[in-house]
Amino acid sequence: MPAVAHLGVGFAAKGVAKNVSVGYLLLAAEAVEIVFMGLWAAGVEVPSSAVSAGFTEYSHTVLSGVVLSFLGALAAWLFSKNKRTSIIIGLLIFSHTLMDLIASPKLAFYPYDTGMPLYPFSEIKIGFGLWKYKILAQILEYGTLAGGVLIYILTKIKMKKEKLAKESAV
Ligand SMILES: [Zn+2]
Repeated sequence: MPAVAHLGVGFAAKGVAKNVSVGYLLLAAEAVEIVFMGLWAAGVEVPSSAVSAGFTEYSHTVLSGVVLSFLGALAAWLFSKNKRTSIIIGLLIFSHTLMDLIASPKLAFYPYDTGMPLYPFSEIKIGFGLWKYKILAQILEYGTLAGGVLIYILTKIKMKKEKLAKESAV
């Protein structure tokens, strides 16, 4: 099952970050996954599967989410010098960890999945485990994606109208 809900959050963020390209918003919403992909490619982390628990002790912990959000917000500040943009980017990055917390352990898809560790190699694993219900998980995943894309489209239409109104006012 693709974790597409994160993309929905990235698209939706356009509604509060009109000045930021949607590419950056999507990148922030998936930053945790991008770190995971890098670590997977490097042979450090392994995704969960139907037969094993996987290993995501660096990318997918609560502390990792906090640290990455802070670093992302800092990077956004260096590039944009815009406080609001930086905060939105930081929150977007943390939204990934938060949503994974709600979903984990994703037992409907990965029977050996555990909750999210508090920090790398922590014995304390937390999560609301909502993804033990397959149908609910899929409705929420695709519903969030669809909702996010809709907000994005409406925001773009509104921006275009505002631009036209401004041009005709001159
Ligand atoms: Zn994730």
